Amino acid sequence: MTASMQINGSLAIITIDNPPVNGLGHATRSAIAECLKTAEANSEVMAILLTGSGKAFSGGADIKEFGTEKTFAQPSLPALIEQMDAYTKPIVAVINGVCMGGGLELALACHYRVAGSGLQIALPEVKLGLLPGAGGTQRLPRLLDIETCASMISAGQIVLSDKLAQSALFDIYESDSQNLLASAEDFARSIADVRPIPRVRDRPANAPTTTDFFAVTRSALMKKSKHFPAPFGCLDALEASLTQNFEDGIKTERAIFQRLLQSPESLALRHIFMAERATGKIAGVDVNTPLRDIKSVAVIGAGTMGAGIAMNFASAGMPVQILDLQAASLEKGLERIRSNYQSAVSKGKLTQEQCEQRCKLIVGVDNYAAIAQADLVIEAVFEEMQIKQSVFEQFDQVMKAGAILASNTSTLDLNQIARFTKRPSDVIGLHFFSPANIMELLEIVRGEQTAADVLATCAALAKKIKKTAVVAGVCDGFIGNRMLEQYTKQAAFLLEEGCTPQQVDRAIEAFGFAMGPFRMSDLAGNDISWAIRKRRHAANPQAIYSKLGDLLCEQGRFGQKTQAGWYDYQANDRTAHPSELVHQIIKQHAQTLGVTQRQINDEEIVQRLVLALANEGRKILRDGIAARASDIDIVYLKGYGFPLHRGGPMFYANNLDWDKVDGLLQQFQQGHQGGTWLL
Ligand code: NAD
Repeated sequence: MTASMQINGSLAIITIDNPPVNGLGHATRSAIAECLKTAEANSEVMAILLTGSGKAFSGGADIKEFGTEKTFAQPSLPALIEQMDAYTKPIVAVINGVCMGGGLELALACHYRVAGSGLQIALPEVKLGLLPGAGGTQRLPRLLDIETCASMISAGQIVLSDKLAQSALFDIYESDSQNLLASAEDFARSIADVRPIPRVRDRPANAPTTTDFFAVTRSALMKKSKHFPAPFGCLDALEASLTQNFEDGIKTERAIFQRLLQSPESLALRHIFMAERATGKIAGVDVNTPLRDIKSVAVIGAGTMGAGIAMNFASAGMPVQILDLQAASLEKGLERIRSNYQSAVSKGKLTQEQCEQRCKLIVGVDNYAAIAQADLVIEAVFEEMQIKQSVFEQFDQVMKAGAILASNTSTLDLNQIARFTKRPSDVIGLHFFSPANIMELLEIVRGEQTAADVLATCAALAKKIKKTAVVAGVCDGFIGNRMLEQYTKQAAFLLEEGCTPQQVDRAIEAFGFAMGPFRMSDLAGNDISWAIRKRRHAANPQAIYSKLGDLLCEQGRFGQKTQAGWYDYQANDRTAHPSELVHQIIKQHAQTLGVTQRQINDEEIVQRLVLALANEGRKILRDGIAARASDIDIVYLKGYGFPLHRGGPMFYANNLDWDKVDGLLQQFQQGHQGGTWLL
């Protein structure tokens, strides 16, 4: 059922019923329209109540119909709302829970609104690069002040009904939501005869309190949302509610909506919205798989990663033991945890009490017997197979049956690690990103024997610690780092061919990355990738890569920490200054290689870097390391700073068209170190 109607004396009560949040899909809109028509025609009915079943009035568009023709099929939401404007009986919205997007627009088109406390009220369409296209931008400013409307419509902010209790949005506000329907029925009887029936559209819109409100808000948006047209479109539509009559304002809203709907930025944001939901579908793992109970966690290694990983669980209220064999490292790790929480307190993100609670949840230990009863153990020790072996062999001896045994390895073979135990089905990779307490991405690495319930449990746990998890298969670098290798390789080849580090960084930053590859490498430490290259070179001496990074490291240019890397730095200052010395090293190296340097334009730089990612992504899909292209996009968007408005490397390549991509790749293959594109 999608909507039903009950007659109670002189009242018709229409209940929207499309779980989980009463999304306004095509069948639901049709059912509401049908119920309204029947109520309007019934001579016994004097007033109509419109409410939602369960915990929502309506959450807006039905995401199951996203991108299908049903989204705009008749009766569309604007058409349904237009019909309501012509009804001769008063319609009262009884807002009983979440009221968002199209749901709020529907409530705004009712003649009266009754609400309770603790309701979530929002018009979040801007987050998908759109605006509320069913009158929201024109009706809301007729009930609320324009400043609140701007933060709701242009920034997509959710507002609790309690904050709006005194506003004209609600005709009746019940602090006790239990009696909402009974109050609404009394109210409906009391206004059943009132004529003319009040319509929001007939009210004047509320003018801003300052004359330069729109100019100031637009200039703030230029800083925050420069890649996104939707917040500006929302503001234009809001302004139209003041400068145009209602009908013209609606036409303006429609025109902006249609323009935004086609915008690449909205397409990207809608792709990301669906991609995030898709990550939860794990091949071969039934959604109803019973989960293992994870009440306590142990982390091995109190270094950079271990400390951050432990914080995630403590922040979610779970007890964590942290084990390090070096007393000094353990001490340092625990100190770092406290200082991270304390700095959140000083920024006002945490109370002192919460800081104490979280610190208390993390207990340092120095032996394996102490962690035997943990439900999940995650190792974050040095990246060496022999050390991982000794750790997993100890897990096998001490951990209780059913415990999940996880590794945070970035590059090592998880299947080999699993074989160090007699319970490889309990072994999984949980690849956190640095800083682990902040980065949203988690790669869940599925070994060839990892049990379905271990995967399902870790995916559920990721949600609990507020991470976006993507499942990856076993290979060197999994999804993210395997692609990054091709990206950084191309960046260095571009230098050999004639670019400067600042030219490469500037081009990719203009594309939307927060930081280019060279500024990023200086921040992370060039010595880290140097160590990885050495290990890879030992394993595969034939592999092609640029020696430039090695040349810099041999001169101690490790990046910001040594005040010299791809750029020069001054003490306590992160500003990257172009380095004459680095330019000379690059030129000399090109001469040694016999490469004739040339001018390379920004378009080529961007295409080589982004298509290096997409091309490797395609191989990752082919190898079955990622289940779907959109998972790869999520890895890059959440873990590597890929610009949101571009939708991810695979989305970008798809939009460019893979035939065109292949044409470009063929050209690149003819160029400097072209063989790397074929591997
Ligand atoms: P780190 O050097 O900062 O910390 C390692 C810690 O492990 C040290 O405190 C050390 O004393 C401890 N340790 C070593 N052997 C141990 C043992 N047998 N038992 C208990 N403790 C032991 O290293 P890190 O950067 O935190 O990296 C740890 C793991 O996380 C590695 O596998 C690494 O590849 C992976 N990783 C690192 C990053 C990163 O950016 N640093 C990102 C993702 C994954």
